[in-house]
Amino acid sequence: MSVIRCDGIVQIYKAQDAEVVALRDVDLTIEAGETVALLGPSGAGKSTLLWLLAGLLRPSAGRLWLDGTDVGRLDQRRLDRLRAAHSGMMLQNPARNLIGYLSAAQNIAFAQRAAGRARRSARRRARELLARVGLADAGDRPAGRMSGGEQQRLALAVAPANAPRLLLADEPTSQLDEESGTRVIELIKDVATAGGTTAVVVTHDTAVSEALSRTVTIRDGRVGAEGRRGEDFVVVGREGAVQVPPEYHHLLPPGSMARIEELDDGIALRRAEP
Ligand code: ADP
Repeated sequence: MSVIRCDGIVQIYKAQDAEVVALRDVDLTIEAGETVALLGPSGAGKSTLLWLLAGLLRPSAGRLWLDGTDVGRLDQRRLDRLRAAHSGMMLQNPARNLIGYLSAAQNIAFAQRAAGRARRSARRRARELLARVGLADAGDRPAGRMSGGEQQRLALAVAPANAPRLLLADEPTSQLDEESGTRVIELIKDVATAGGTTAVVVTHDTAVSEALSRTVTIRDGRVGAEGRRGEDFVVVGREGAVQVPPEYHHLLPPGSMARIEELDDGIALRRAEP
């Protein structure tokens, strides 16, 4: 059973008198233990997809299964319960992931309550997570008094604290130097290998995307490309749609016409003058 299955997901925001289509026909399946980097330009729909996977939004159309459960069939209470048990989420603004007046260690303990972990093993796990993000000596400090970078690292220690099936993070390294960034990447990978947790990370940081097992590029609300083991592939979407990657726009600009040429193992697109 896949941890995530998106089938034709459409997400529409209604803002005053306009509608914004943030995602259109997203098909995506992610298996247990995969670590996925969500890439793409600003406004492409990455955060929206992350929020859907976290169960914080419901799709406007299409179907979303989390761990085999059809999210559209759950009432709000069941969805909240699934979210608490299923996922650890790290939002982009690190302070929003934390309770400012609680200490670093208490923030982790709070997250662990959802998993019902025994108190002593919870404390051990909290110390271990703090050490992993380089905050071993900061356990007693209130989260609200930490710097942006420290809060980001603490948020990354809080997100996997309840041993979630799914770890979601939005730009987890944006405020970190290279060394702290590397620690965070190692933590994400270890959580995935050791605990069988699936990780989906929105990132612009190539150090993150290169370290994870798969990349999914969102462009204009669609899955435009996927990468595995360093190689990028375009994705043939519904109705055969293919996005020409921006690096080829000088050869085949958007709006141009192309001739399709059949090859033994696929097709070639050649620019044609109408
Ligand atoms: P990304 O994370 O790739 O930058 P987002 O998912 O944040 O993209 O946004 C996708 C599109 O949806 C953008 O056009 C954005 O302006 C719009 N959008 C995001 N959130 C809202 C919202 N709450 N209300 C209206 N439009 C939104």
